[in-house]
Amino acid sequence: MHPIQMVDLKRQYHHIKSEIDKAVLDVLESSAFINGKPVQDFADNLARYTGTRYVIPCANGTDALQIAMMALGLKPGDEVITPSFTYIATTEVVALLGLKPVFVEVDARTFCMDPVALEKAITPRTRAIVPVHLYGQSAPMQEILDIAGAHGLFVIEDNAQAIGADYTMKDGSVRKTGTLGTIGTTSFFPSKNLGGYGDGGAIFTQDEALASTIRMIANHGQSKRYYHDLVGCNSRLDTLQAAILDIKLRRLDQYNEARRSVAACYNEAFAGIDGVQTPFVAPGNTHVYHQYTLVLEGIDRDGLHQHLAEHQVPSMIYYPVPAHRQKMFASFGAADTILPVTDWLTERVISLPIHTEMDQDQLDHIIHQVLTFIRK
Ligand SMILES: *Cc1c(COP(=O)(O)O)cnc(C)c1O
Repeated sequence: MHPIQMVDLKRQYHHIKSEIDKAVLDVLESSAFINGKPVQDFADNLARYTGTRYVIPCANGTDALQIAMMALGLKPGDEVITPSFTYIATTEVVALLGLKPVFVEVDARTFCMDPVALEKAITPRTRAIVPVHLYGQSAPMQEILDIAGAHGLFVIEDNAQAIGADYTMKDGSVRKTGTLGTIGTTSFFPSKNLGGYGDGGAIFTQDEALASTIRMIANHGQSKRYYHDLVGCNSRLDTLQAAILDIKLRRLDQYNEARRSVAACYNEAFAGIDGVQTPFVAPGNTHVYHQYTLVLEGIDRDGLHQHLAEHQVPSMIYYPVPAHRQKMFASFGAADTILPVTDWLTERVISLPIHTEMDQDQLDHIIHQVLTFIRK
C-alpha cells in the first residue's frame, strides 16, 4: 500500500508529468516569468469554466480577499461579517485593513454561515458579508444575497475551498460558487482542489468597473504605466503557476469527481453509526470535498486522531481554534462573542484523507481503522 497522505500531490503530478514538464519548460524558454501569455490564457479559461465575466489572477487567496475589500472602498471601522469557523485568512484581512470583523455562527450540518445569525448581526455600520464555502460546498447564497440586497451590503465569497462546486438559485439556475456575490475569491495553494506548485489566487466579478479597480489595486494602483491613481499592492500570479494551473483546470471536474467517489465510500462505511455525522450536502449543492469532515458525538475525537496516527493514517482538525478565540482578535473583544455551534463543532470535527489519487486498499485501511476505534 502507498503511504497515506491527506493530499497526494506527488502521485497526481506523476499522472500529468509530461504535460506539466513541457509547459514549465516552455515558460522557462520564453522567460516571460511575469505576465506571460499563460496568465491571460488561464484567466480566460477559468472565466469560461466558472461562467464569470472577469477573472483577475493574483498572488494568493489571502491577497484576493484583501484586494476585494480594498476595491469595495471599505473604510476603517466598517463592519464585515464573517464566520468564525473558517481558516484565519478570511478574518485576518478584515482586521489588517482596519475594518471590524463581526463573527457569526455557522450551521452545524453544513459548516457554512447561518443566514439567521447573519441577519441578527447586521448593524448600521455593516458594509460587507464574507460567506465561506467551507470544505467544498456552497454557503446558502440565495438567503445571503437576499439579506445583503435588503440591507445594501456587499458580498465577498471566499471560494478557496469550493472551486468547481455548483449552487442552485431559487429560480432554478445552477451557478458556480464564487460567481454569485459582488466579488468572489479563490486560492491555488497546492493542496486546494485546483492547486498550483506554489502560491496563487484569483478574484472573480461580473462587474466591469469593479474588475478594472481590482486590476489596478493588484498592480500598485496603476492606471497606466507609472501613473498610480489608487493605493494598491503588488499581487501577481506567476507565469509558471498559470501554465501549470491551466493544465490542471482541464481536469478539475475529473478531480472533483474523484474526491466525490472517495466521499461516497466513506459515507457508505460510516452511515448509521451512532455518534458519527457524515457530511450533509444541502439540496441543490454539489460538494467538491476539499475536506471530508466528520462530526463525532460521544466519541473521543482526539483519541481517534491518535489511533489513526498510530496506524499510518493522517487526519486533521480544521480548525482547532475558531477565529473569535484567536489571540489576534483579543483587542476586538472577539472572545466575548457567543458562538456555541462554532465551539461545539471545533471540539468534534475531524477530517480524513481525501484526494484525487486514493486507492481502494488505502480507503479500506482508513475505514477499517476508524471503525476499529469507534467500536472499541
Ligand atoms: C486557503 C484559504 C485561504 C487563503 O488562501 P492562500 O492562498 O493560502 O492565501 C482563504 N480562505 C480559505 C477558506 C482558505 O481555505
